[in-house]
Amino acid sequence: MRGNKEVFSVPVVFADRFFMSEKSLAEISLLGGCAWADARDHLELAKQLGGSSSVRILVSEYIAINALVMERAPSLKGIIAYGAGYDHIDVKQAAQRGVLVCNCQGANAQAVAELTFGLLLCLMRKIHLSDRLVREDGWKKAESANLPAWVMGEELQGKTLGIIGLGQIGSRVARIARGFDMKILAYDPFVQLSLSEVESSSLEDILSQADIVTLHVPLAPTTEKMINAQTVAMMKPKALLVNTSRGKVIDEPVLLEALKEKRIAGAALDVFGVEPISGDHPLAKLHNVVLSPHIGALSQEAGERLSDAVARQIRDILEGRKPECLISS
Ligand code: NAD
Repeated sequence: MRGNKEVFSVPVVFADRFFMSEKSLAEISLLGGCAWADARDHLELAKQLGGSSSVRILVSEYIAINALVMERAPSLKGIIAYGAGYDHIDVKQAAQRGVLVCNCQGANAQAVAELTFGLLLCLMRKIHLSDRLVREDGWKKAESANLPAWVMGEELQGKTLGIIGLGQIGSRVARIARGFDMKILAYDPFVQLSLSEVESSSLEDILSQADIVTLHVPLAPTTEKMINAQTVAMMKPKALLVNTSRGKVIDEPVLLEALKEKRIAGAALDVFGVEPISGDHPLAKLHNVVLSPHIGALSQEAGERLSDAVARQIRDILEGRKPECLISS
């Protein structure tokens, strides 16, 4: 059932729909209980909250939690971003109101790091296109010796991987890349590089040297459109770009043109400027692109870890302790 028509009378409201385990829900019910708003957007959420003084914590994966929403929950103490990204939460506004903001940092990092390689392997070995070829009887028709030329792929071994953003996800990507015997360059101005076999690099060097560039930065004013006409122009014509971070980190029309004109060789994208995209999106027409519907965090294990982290932080906030992944404005 979409939406709770009544003003909420529980301390915890889940803004949108995401996985919560029975165990975590049981823990939250001992703290006063929760309700699902299942809102389509922040306006619907604000309407549902309707000034309820019971609501003390909001948990949201994608729905914007802004001034309007906060205003409609006057007893709000905490906002939890279900996941690592918190670009949908107005952190400054929350700070002004004395509302704590936290995320679930690290809980879904392995899932995203593994998907990064899943997408990359599809792009390099055409696994998705090959699967379609077999299903559509193309193998039988080609009589194996005459498979289409595009089946010829490339190996990861020996390639240079450029990681932009070496946090929870980026550092796991680096660990996996070591197993593929790749050369690893990383750019992150905010972390001290301490991973073995990872070479610290400037953004310009990564873009000009990497065979594969992979993005693992948060969406922020400093990272928005960080892949733009100027930075794409620095990449090698044979380079591949992988984005499992946020769509707006890339200037999408610029990428589209670069892919069409083969100024870079291909891209694998889990995230887009505006989501969801439709099947007739111009990116979906290109053969040098692999697309997935923002599934980076969708592993069962990540779901369990996210659910545990949400329940723990709800308890901490309600009982007056500092939550483990507190974000400051
Ligand atoms: P994190 O905070 O652990 O790591 C982000 C890293 O980016 C940090 O080390 C930070 O120093 C670095 N950084 C910030 N600004 C930078 C800049 N201008 N240049 C280079 N590096 C910069 O976060 P994480 O858990 O690794 O997640 C990264 C992002 O991935 C999240 O913010 C989220 O947007 C996205 N994400 C996507 C999915 C998905 O489903 N596709 C799932 C989880 C996270």
